[in-house]
Amino acid sequence: MNSLPLLDQHHRIHRSMRISVTDVCNIRCQYCMPDGPVQFLPNNQLLSYQQIAQIAAACTELGIEKYRITGGEPLARPNLHELFESLAKIPGIKDVALTTNGMMLKDQVASLVVAGLRRVNISLDTLQEETFQKLSRRSGLGRVLEGIEAALDQPQLSVRLNALVLRDVNLNDVVELVLFAKSRKVTMRFIEFMPLDASRSWTQSRMVSGSELRQLLSDRIGPLTPIASSNPAQPSTDYQFADDSRVGFIDSVTSPFCSRCDRLRLTADGKLRNCLFGKEEWDVKTLFATCNDDPLEFRHQFEKTIRDCVLAKAAAHGIDKAQFQPPERAMYQIGG
Ligand code: SAM
Ligand code: SF4
Repeated sequence: MNSLPLLDQHHRIHRSMRISVTDVCNIRCQYCMPDGPVQFLPNNQLLSYQQIAQIAAACTELGIEKYRITGGEPLARPNLHELFESLAKIPGIKDVALTTNGMMLKDQVASLVVAGLRRVNISLDTLQEETFQKLSRRSGLGRVLEGIEAALDQPQLSVRLNALVLRDVNLNDVVELVLFAKSRKVTMRFIEFMPLDASRSWTQSRMVSGSELRQLLSDRIGPLTPIASSNPAQPSTDYQFADDSRVGFIDSVTSPFCSRCDRLRLTADGKLRNCLFGKEEWDVKTLFATCNDDPLEFRHQFEKTIRDCVLAKAAAHGIDKAQFQPPERAMYQIGG
């Protein structure tokens, strides 16, 4: 394989990848999934764990060193620890993290840590069951909280909490969420609502900006000071309170980090994407068939495909442009 880095036309080298293992989810967050019946991908369209590991091995040779497993709800895919075991064996991978809604984490966290998991982001948008039901159209906050406690019981595991705030649903929960995270000594991060919901209900006014949240938290809890990041590709800007506890903000809409983006995405059905908002996809799954399971030919074809994907990456997502159109796939179908 060519050892040149995955460089795009805007001077960005790509070093991280989000891998979605399923589009299935056990809840229906308003900001992500549709309300009505959902047609999930049939199992035979999903990449197998073996295929994902083969793709990750090829990507790692091309300079991708950090991976995050996501979905849909990744823990809804059976035996996820087997994928972590396979990825742990690939030389050159520095980090394989997980993003989950936490509902199935309690029973799986120990086996995932044994398989190599060291970093997990757990979504937590509210501490009120009523608000949880409104936001996710399902019940089960208690299971999420059990999942968080089980993760915190794993000494080798670094835990972060992610929240997405919708002005009309959970803005009143923000202070309580930060106090909860402080009490558990974990960082709470707030992600701005992006136009990636299946119901197309996104509006600028429904989104709560990071700056509005920082003002609210400073007024209600105490002054926040920004912390310089050691990793420029990191989308989150962290702040700290006077007691050194931290809170992070991913201001993807109001302060896009596109110029520093080093990320690619692989969907559960084997499509490479260079941006959440991209309209184009590069099919990797069919390469397994066309290469007749010949690993060398696969690597050759894969390298060509991923370089095409990287070269086509736009400079920015363009949400702020009048002609912006959201992608066809919603967040749960891409992998957040
Ligand atoms: N099901 C897992 C979860 O919720 O953590 C993993 C997949 S979910 C798509 C990954 C992340 O995407 C979550 O932190 C979620 O809050 C975020 N997300 C979903 N829809 C979003 C949207 N429209 N804008 C911004 N972030 C979104
Ligand atoms: Fe499921 Fe995560 Fe989407 Fe919520 S954000 S519906 S938990 S995939």
